[in-house]
Amino acid sequence: MFSRISSRGLSLTRAILQQRYQSTLVIAEHNNEKLTPVTLNTITAASKIGDVTCLVAGSQCSKVAEELSQVNGVQKVLVADSDSYKGFLPESLTPLVLELQKQFNFEYILASATAVGKNLLPRVAAKLDVSPISDITGIKDKDTFVRTIYAGNAVQTLKSSDPVKVITVRGTAFEAASTSGGSGSSENAPTVDVKNDKSQFIGQELTKSDRPELSSASIVISGGRGMKNGDNFKLLYDLADKMNAAVGASRAAVDAGFVPNDMQIGQTGKIIAPDLYVAVGISGAIQHLAGMKDSKVIVAINKDPEAPIFQVSDYGLVQDLFKAIPEMTSSVK
Ligand SMILES: Cc1cc2nc3c(=O)[nH]c(=O)nc-3n(C[C@H](O)[C@H](O)[C@H](O)COP(=O)(O)OP(=O)(O)OC[C@H]3O[C@@H](n4cnc5c(N)ncnc54)[C@H](O)[C@@H]3O)c2cc1C
Repeated sequence: MFSRISSRGLSLTRAILQQRYQSTLVIAEHNNEKLTPVTLNTITAASKIGDVTCLVAGSQCSKVAEELSQVNGVQKVLVADSDSYKGFLPESLTPLVLELQKQFNFEYILASATAVGKNLLPRVAAKLDVSPISDITGIKDKDTFVRTIYAGNAVQTLKSSDPVKVITVRGTAFEAASTSGGSGSSENAPTVDVKNDKSQFIGQELTKSDRPELSSASIVISGGRGMKNGDNFKLLYDLADKMNAAVGASRAAVDAGFVPNDMQIGQTGKIIAPDLYVAVGISGAIQHLAGMKDSKVIVAINKDPEAPIFQVSDYGLVQDLFKAIPEMTSSVK
């Protein structure tokens, strides 16, 4: 037998349903096929605050939604599959995030502090008229977050009184959530009429490498100005291939044109925390340290015993790199 639900009952039911979705929305980063690993770290941060709902917005991205629903800690996956989201343009994604916020009243919206997250969330925050909280490295309580300032020279603890907290998360500061053990449900996100006449996705060219991805590699070998030129980076590639390591660089090496800028580690490059970081011919400027000082073990090779990199390194070798690196390569089995 069916009975009528009163309008009061309906709004109560809606409120209860919305309650389930309350707390955190994580914007998942992916390439429509696979989840970007740093999203797993952001999910861990979100789980510290409350229930986790993830948004997968993309074009033909159902595989990512399946992958995400298995991730430990994910309660729900909202899928927005449309050609409008090709290229993950912030102008197209923002109306979707705002619509979700309107419908589900999230208290927190999180993304990784990557190019995608840094592009999208300030726009979302501006539209919601709240302050974005960027690049957090810790969560003290539901309103209080930790982040670094002055290129990592000072640690700031900030309390936000905004009703919705819009946050980017530094992946290296949180463990990755396990990719199994979850049983999140999946459903379509509400359809949003995306009118983006400001930007258009034309295409992308991605660098292909057989080496591990720099942001998630467990071993990184980086070269600096001391490498002298781009050809000499072959010394590092040879060593890296033997150690299954990724290769990074200082900004000086990038600015000098030795290597492309997607290899740059530091304040204005990638922030990484591998198990082992080997700095070769890098002086250890504060802006470089900002990108690697959370590495578990730091090894520095530099011919100048006074180089500041030795102050943060666990192991230091004062030697000419052109002697040290070939010797290391030949001794690694
Ligand atoms: C706003 C701002 C943002 C920045 N962002 C970044 C950033 O994201 N990442 C970054 O790296 N930098 C950044 N920088 C630049 C930074 O300040 C330094 O200039 C840069 O990190 C220096 O790079 P380096 O250590 O390779 O070069 P150098 O400081 O010139 O050091 C080269 C080192 O190589 C050693 N060396 C030379 N020859 C040999 C040899 N044969 N064998 C062994 N050792 C040798 C030298 O002793 C020296 O210590 C930024 C600067 C600013 C102002």
